[in-house]
Amino acid sequence: MSGPVNRATGNPVTKLSFWGVRGSTPTVDPATWRYGGNTPCLGLTAPDGTQFILDCGTGLRVLGSRWTAPGGSGRNPETHIFVTHYHWDHIQGFPFFAPLYAESNEFHFYSFRSKHLGRDSLKQVFETQMAMPYFPVNMSAMTAKKRFMEVSGGESFSIGENKIIARHLNHPQGCLGFRVETPGGTIAYTTDNEPGDAKLDAELEELAAGADIFVNDAQYTPEQLASTRKGWGHSSWQEGVRVARRAGAKTLVLFHHDPDSTDRMIDGLLRQAREEFDSVFAASEGMVVTLGAAPGHFEAHMPETRMALRREAQFRAEVCGITEGGHAFKEETVVRDLALQGALISLAHCPRLQSELQVTMETPGEGGTKTMQLRGYVVRVVAGEKRGKNAVGVVFTD
Ligand SMILES: [Zn+2]
Ligand SMILES: [Zn+2]
Repeated sequence: MSGPVNRATGNPVTKLSFWGVRGSTPTVDPATWRYGGNTPCLGLTAPDGTQFILDCGTGLRVLGSRWTAPGGSGRNPETHIFVTHYHWDHIQGFPFFAPLYAESNEFHFYSFRSKHLGRDSLKQVFETQMAMPYFPVNMSAMTAKKRFMEVSGGESFSIGENKIIARHLNHPQGCLGFRVETPGGTIAYTTDNEPGDAKLDAELEELAAGADIFVNDAQYTPEQLASTRKGWGHSSWQEGVRVARRAGAKTLVLFHHDPDSTDRMIDGLLRQAREEFDSVFAASEGMVVTLGAAPGHFEAHMPETRMALRREAQFRAEVCGITEGGHAFKEETVVRDLALQGALISLAHCPRLQSELQVTMETPGEGGTKTMQLRGYVVRVVAGEKRGKNAVGVVFTD
């Protein structure tokens, strides 16, 4: 079995992909498009080819739709899935994970014994989630091989060439944080955690110690965490920076964004965090981090449109569509709020709701400016929002 390699050097690398980054509940409102609305799910492929999944939030469905079984064709070695805890946002993608319905796949699930459920807690949670009348088929429809393992908070174990350490975090009904040490680099995944419990805080630092990537709960602002959201089981960018510093973590990733946090608000949190710590990212759907290409070095890739957006670029665009009155129009404009799924475009014309729009954009890429052709549908028109122009929400179909 072999894992990902660096194309330039041929060195084996560790690849961490973000499929869901939102906390508590999925969001679909346009103001959250850019960072993304799916709930927690990360994919991790180690240099030895071992495939891990962290949490089964709604991002798991998207991961499943791009699924390639580890090891390539013909062989389907197992995938190891760590579930931090049983709140909806961390399990809801499970029934929609297509690879579970294929006999040739094998999954090993790891989570802790809940005092509310006892033995095989995670299995019970999944079975209950799919029981009538909550879901049309029960878990027996999932023909993939499934094994359920119980992990207690003080444990470490090996899978392939990788070492896994689990510790309890401070969260209502319990939660596990995981540290995955791979030959390509170390990832600490500690979401759904509230600081303030001395013993658990020390264990969190243990998980984060010297980590290359420290993915930490940053749901609330420091002000919320100190007042209205105290005791809700979450953390802030400021706490993440504090732990990253003390533990000597190299890069902090702000994660588990609040469903009420718009992209602009998360931009603001990221800006503040970057003033206090050198290497900080705000997790966004589609982000891929590659570790181990060179010692102490990592690369983060956003899908091209998001990357461009991080440079706060604006795109000149030509938009063709049909007006409310049924007339074809063509208009030059600038696209500012751009995500993989869609964009908000300022237009003098008022396109008809649900009509098709053609957007031709010039985007800066690695090899110079490229022309990007996108087709989408108008999902929202706010008349006269900016200097008499209409704000038009578009969802891209290709
Ligand atoms: Zn959560
Ligand atoms: Zn939770």
